[in-house]
Amino acid sequence: MKTVSKPRIAFFDFTGCEGCQLTVIDSLQTHPELLGAVEIVNFREAMSEKSDHYQIAFVEGGYTRPEDEKRLLDIRERASMVIALGACAHLGGVNALRNWQPQAEVRSYVYGESGKKYTPKPAQPIERIIPIDGFIPGCPIDREEFIQVVTRLLQNRQPRIPDYPICVECRLKENACLLLSGKCCLGPITRAGCGAICPTYGEGCEGCRGMISTPNISGLKFAMNEHGLSEAVLNEKMRLFLSYQLIKSEKDGHDRH
Ligand code: SF4
Ligand code: SF4
Ligand code: SF4
Repeated sequence: MKTVSKPRIAFFDFTGCEGCQLTVIDSLQTHPELLGAVEIVNFREAMSEKSDHYQIAFVEGGYTRPEDEKRLLDIRERASMVIALGACAHLGGVNALRNWQPQAEVRSYVYGESGKKYTPKPAQPIERIIPIDGFIPGCPIDREEFIQVVTRLLQNRQPRIPDYPICVECRLKENACLLLSGKCCLGPITRAGCGAICPTYGEGCEGCRGMISTPNISGLKFAMNEHGLSEAVLNEKMRLFLSYQLIKSEKDGHDRH
């Protein structure tokens, strides 16, 4: 009987905390059937064996150093599909906070004199260097969404990543809106898919899944203002996860004018 080879999957890490890879390990423990459907050939966090032959590459972590470029291009050349895994790979993640400052200042603040040895770049999505075939947002990624994406890729179907705001999920859960009690929440501009977990537990959304494609930031400012929250509070909150998108849209705005 002819043996059908399983799709070969590889995981790679760039600049990030490796929390998304840990979430993958966690997902595989609750969905062991997936391990029967694929062959994992590269996953530094979980195994020592390595192979350069794979079809699907999941890349965690952002592009932050000149030497990342060659490695990313090499992964792209070998893989039929590249998926950005988590906020760092998808949108630069928390690391993009440093993009507001001159990089030389950041370097000397963090490393002092020895910073001269390093040549960091602003934190950017891997898509700045290579085309990607999909992304799984979040910091960290959502376990069930990871399983859904892999399952759909194996069935040659497009992963389903929502492009509507967290508020939709929050309202479906019948949560009381936090804005009404004077708490800042980025739900109206943030991509759904996590089940509005933070507002459900009484904390405003921090925007870890990134902004939807058409975020109404001025509408959110208006709503916050109506409930006694200042623009400064909103701006501060948006910086944690949305710095890359904010700086990019400012720059694109300048380029258009
Ligand atoms: S997205 Fe968050 S959890 Fe994932 S690697 Fe980056 S910092 Fe870590
Ligand atoms: S709590 Fe946040 S996510 Fe929920 S409805 Fe209000 S603004 Fe939207
Ligand atoms: S509610 Fe917001 S901050 Fe919390 S997990 Fe979802 S997207 Fe991330």
